[in-house]
Amino acid sequence: MRILLAEDDRIIADGLARALKKSGYAVDHVVTGADADAALASQQYDLLILDLGLPKLSGIDVLKRLRGRKCPMPVLILTAQDGLEDRVRGLDAGADDYMTKPFALPELEARVRALTRRGTGMPTRIDFGPLTYDQADRVARINGQVADFSARELGLLEILLLRAGRLVSKEQLVDHLCGWGEEVSTNAIEVYVHRLRKKLEPGGVKIATVRGLGYCLERPADAAADGAAP
Ligand code: CA
Repeated sequence: MRILLAEDDRIIADGLARALKKSGYAVDHVVTGADADAALASQQYDLLILDLGLPKLSGIDVLKRLRGRKCPMPVLILTAQDGLEDRVRGLDAGADDYMTKPFALPELEARVRALTRRGTGMPTRIDFGPLTYDQADRVARINGQVADFSARELGLLEILLLRAGRLVSKEQLVDHLCGWGEEVSTNAIEVYVHRLRKKLEPGGVKIATVRGLGYCLERPADAAADGAAP
């Protein structure tokens, strides 16, 4: 999941970006409305977290331009405590939810999970053979046992689950897992996939390598047809 964070308050932005990255999201941070607008026009995101009081182009204008391009991306606006009018204007302009500053990080993260889930059309719970993934709590279970995945591994698993049975390229994985300025090579992706695979395979869930192209989470029926799963 890739998030664009448009916030000109450094302290809020740094804290938010750090927390979201720790939860396995890729986060790109911009400080001005103009930069947000440019990023949104050139890159696909799963969520926009938008402060309304931004320099150069207001958050409301960023939002109006986004919706003007018929982009359905979920948008969470951040508003000042006394900004009732702002909130109403934001929701009218097409925001999906809002948070009032100061906010509690766990609550913001819960809303981020809900909005990204809605945006991808991902159900709260995915059953995939012996694997169950609860997107609301970000917990994966294999044969009913909670599996110990790192935030990165969960991020990877999410993308593979969303496109189960289809090819996902290494570049797409890098794109979803890493924000700007984060040095994650396709070699590192191979390492994450290797770790994830080692945790999934004993449960009978297989990540197939499509040589030179990427990876594919095999549907349990596909794997059984290959004779690879019991
Ligand atoms: Ca601001």
